[in-house]
Amino acid sequence: MKFNTKVIHGGQQHDPSTGAVMPPVYQTSTFAQTSPGQPINPDYEYSRAANPTRTALENALASIENGTRGLAFSSGLAATDCVLRSFKAGDEIIAMDDLYGGTYRMFTRIYNNYGIIFHFVDMNNLEKLKEVINENTKLVWVETPTNPLMKLADIQEIAKITKQNKILFAVDNTFATPYLQKPLDLGADIVMHSATKYLGGHSDVIAGALIVKDEALGEQLHFQQFATGAILGPMDSFLVLRGIKTLHLRVERHCQNGGKVAEFLDKHPKVKTVYYPGLRSHPFHEIAKKQMSGFGGMVSFSFVSGKKEDAVAFLEKIKVFTLAESLGGVESLANYPVLMTHASIPEDKRIAIGITDDLVRLSVGVEDIEDLLEDLEQALA
Ligand SMILES: *Cc1c(COP(=O)(O)O)cnc(C)c1O
Repeated sequence: MKFNTKVIHGGQQHDPSTGAVMPPVYQTSTFAQTSPGQPINPDYEYSRAANPTRTALENALASIENGTRGLAFSSGLAATDCVLRSFKAGDEIIAMDDLYGGTYRMFTRIYNNYGIIFHFVDMNNLEKLKEVINENTKLVWVETPTNPLMKLADIQEIAKITKQNKILFAVDNTFATPYLQKPLDLGADIVMHSATKYLGGHSDVIAGALIVKDEALGEQLHFQQFATGAILGPMDSFLVLRGIKTLHLRVERHCQNGGKVAEFLDKHPKVKTVYYPGLRSHPFHEIAKKQMSGFGGMVSFSFVSGKKEDAVAFLEKIKVFTLAESLGGVESLANYPVLMTHASIPEDKRIAIGITDDLVRLSVGVEDIEDLLEDLEQALA
């Protein structure tokens, strides 16, 4: 089955009791048993362990990422948290030096306290990555493209190193989506998603996902989810499943509009740098061409003036774009990382990695491009 068929049919079956084409929202916590330990359907006893609506979503997730097991969580961070629970004090984790702010906060302010040691490295310096690896290293965590600077990491090259050293390799695939990039096929062990973003796609649900190829790893992660409890509810599972059915159509348009917005900004006299992997000037354009089949709808940019006031004025003037956190929905959003998504990163670190006071991040939606460009034009004037 090819991708555009998988988003609609992958892992799906009609509801066995009614033939319903979409799985019903099984809004139930528990399932009847005929004799102690003998549920009517052996797959379902209690919804923390499994719920049919969630199962339908989890099967879809496994299908579209070419994995064997999908797990749906109550948020993207809950999915990341589940992976982190595999480790103990003294274990070391190497993470990319440009991460979603909430991931960075979890690593440094929660799991650091449990004695797990984190190293943040530039994943384009593979020699440096090899240097930091030692016998305690258990996981490499990469986000590509990153939020908000659209840095890329070469998944295949990193996978070679992690395989050689028997280290788990997890990729946050939120920005690319499996329509554009399939980390498991490129050698990663775990794919993580904030399904709140492109998978859900309509800004109406908070959800997360993990997908793996290795069945034993899938079983271990499911046990951790079951034992700690951060599952996705039936209604939210239904919403993400519905979102996935149009993922290919939406992301195609996000890419078209994203590319046009990036080109427009690149030519604008008030704009200094445009961060978009599809631009030939982007430092990671070659890696993007190698491992992604399109460049997505996320575009960040800075101002020639370098001034915070210019970024703020722009964000106050936009009309079609909405100033809001989050991304990946059908509607265009704009974000000011310094005070919004990345406020949890200490100022010196933030500046050092390039999240400057004049940086704006756009999540380009699927509206008519003329309206989006007109809005940007008037807000930059
Ligand atoms: C939003 C986001 C997360 C966190 O997901 P939530 O659903 O908000 O918990 C993690 N990684 C990336 C890249 C994100 O954009």
